[in-house]
Amino acid sequence: MNAFWKTKTLDEMTSEEWELLCDGCGRCCLRALEDESGKIFRTQIACRLLDTETCRCKKYDERFVQVPECLELRKLSRSKYHWLPESCAYRLLHEGQELPAWHPLNSGYAASVYEAGISVRGICHTETEVYDA
Ligand code: SF4
Ligand code: SF4
Repeated sequence: MNAFWKTKTLDEMTSEEWELLCDGCGRCCLRALEDESGKIFRTQIACRLLDTETCRCKKYDERFVQVPECLELRKLSRSKYHWLPESCAYRLLHEGQELPAWHPLNSGYAASVYEAGISVRGICHTETEVYDA
């Protein structure tokens, strides 16, 4: 595959390239808190639409309708990208860093994200599960 992530800026990427950047870790789907200093604390409580086994959104095409607070990264101001997890490909590229070896675009397989301990698979519960307990 053409290593587009090394040659294009985020704004230059096609929709398909943009989607390929997402490693599917699910970290951005965890509820987070920001303190007065701007430090972000991520909980182990996930958005109700996160499939906690696959770490994929259950309603990806409808996500902004069903979950208004879901971030549309392509439209989100780059000045807010520090809200994203430090491992997130969009944040890494925005900050001028390389994609890590475990990223599927480098490793060639999706499971490398889980093997590297980046995926939230198995370490979170959805807010619905918590409320129903
Ligand atoms: S944190 Fe970034 S790479 Fe991980 S699922 Fe969210 S958008 Fe994709
Ligand atoms: S709507 Fe989907 S993509 Fe958005 S935070 Fe929830 S699970 Fe993640």
